[in-house]
Amino acid sequence: MYSVKEIFYSLQGEGAHSGRPAVFVRFAGCNLWNGLEESRESATCQFCDTDFVGINGLNGGKFKSADELASKATEIANIKQYQSNLPLMVICTGGEPLLQVDEPLIEAFKAQGFYVAVETNGTIKAPAGFDWICVSPKAGSEIIQQQGNELKVVFGQSGMDLSNFLTWRFEHFYLQPMDGPAIDQSTQETIAYCKANPSWKLSLQNHKILNIP
Ligand code: SF4
Repeated sequence: MYSVKEIFYSLQGEGAHSGRPAVFVRFAGCNLWNGLEESRESATCQFCDTDFVGINGLNGGKFKSADELASKATEIANIKQYQSNLPLMVICTGGEPLLQVDEPLIEAFKAQGFYVAVETNGTIKAPAGFDWICVSPKAGSEIIQQQGNELKVVFGQSGMDLSNFLTWRFEHFYLQPMDGPAIDQSTQETIAYCKANPSWKLSLQNHKILNIP
């Protein structure tokens, strides 16, 4: 059984796949915050801007099997006669998707022809089979998944030493300004940090900037 908050078809807005069409499967629940505003200040992760509670979002629900969920993702993309060397991407996100995603689900997505990506906070080891692993570490949590394709860090988290990450095994190291009322200042600070530390690249949330639904 998989509990899913929402499923929608859009463009990836961030990081190395920015601009690429993708089906987003947002899994319900996270292990670093329960998603309730009254407990935000006591959570390990306090700057979350995503509603991952429950299964009441667009196309959300409980899916009894991996095949059922993978078929739903295909149905929502609704791509007919899809012909490309670039397979359609499905992004397992959350909340924390690795509380639920397992190898049978990854295989079911692949059986539908998907390129299977995950966006995780890194506190749970990823099962085998993903085509793309993006880890976004949160200050104060223990990161188990120290390898993958893309490390994407929200800039300005207190108590986080960015230089520690550069020994981890990733192809891309991204810094993303922290969204919120101070986004302009955070963006300028992130740009300055990247210029001073060129191992890092700037990632912007283009879907928010361009209002991509
Ligand atoms: S780890 Fe991700 S989903 Fe969980 S509370 Fe933090 S930002 Fe939100």
